[in-house]
Amino acid sequence: MDKDMELKIIKNFKSRNIDVAFFETLEEARGKIMELIPLTCSVGIGNSQTLKKMNISELLRARGNIVFDKTQAQSQEESKEIKKKSLLSDWYITGTNAISTEGHIVNIDHSGNRVAAMIYGPDNVIVVIGRNKICDTLDDAVHRARSISAPLNAKRAGYNPPCLELKKCIDCKTAERVCYNLVIVEGQFAKGRMKLFIVNEELGF
Ligand code: SF4
Repeated sequence: MDKDMELKIIKNFKSRNIDVAFFETLEEARGKIMELIPLTCSVGIGNSQTLKKMNISELLRARGNIVFDKTQAQSQEESKEIKKKSLLSDWYITGTNAISTEGHIVNIDHSGNRVAAMIYGPDNVIVVIGRNKICDTLDDAVHRARSISAPLNAKRAGYNPPCLELKKCIDCKTAERVCYNLVIVEGQFAKGRMKLFIVNEELGF
């Protein structure tokens, strides 16, 4: 990754009270997460391809952390329960859909549990992304979330909104809609609460 761009991202996020760390591989980022989170803490996990690839839920649980990961629920009821509990976890780990080099974190979300925990509840939040999600401006990041993340997330979850075929958002009102929340994190009030881990790999969508 370009050094100047790295420095720009660090500076702009720092001015918004978000710490940034760069990693060459997903494995390195995973190692840092395991090191940072104490064994005694509970951890909520946002649904993310990147985190799945990292196998982070299984590793944390295996060593003794209490983990709330809705993708491991056995029923809709259990999933709902896990999503609520993750809002009060000590740590929350999540992916996101795009960042801007100006310092924004852009999320497009179906029910909103992931962004809710990102914004308030857990005392510590780690956001993990691959280099493919770095956009220049806020507009570019929002465009990415709507035109790339939304259709691919829809496909993964078995929905068929218009953007899947059109490759662009038409602000649909269909039952297939996958993005009821477009949330821009502009910064953090609590310094040190949020960390952004950027991995030098193409990860997720
Ligand atoms: S509003 Fe509809 S068309 Fe637009 S991104 Fe969401 S699901 Fe796709």
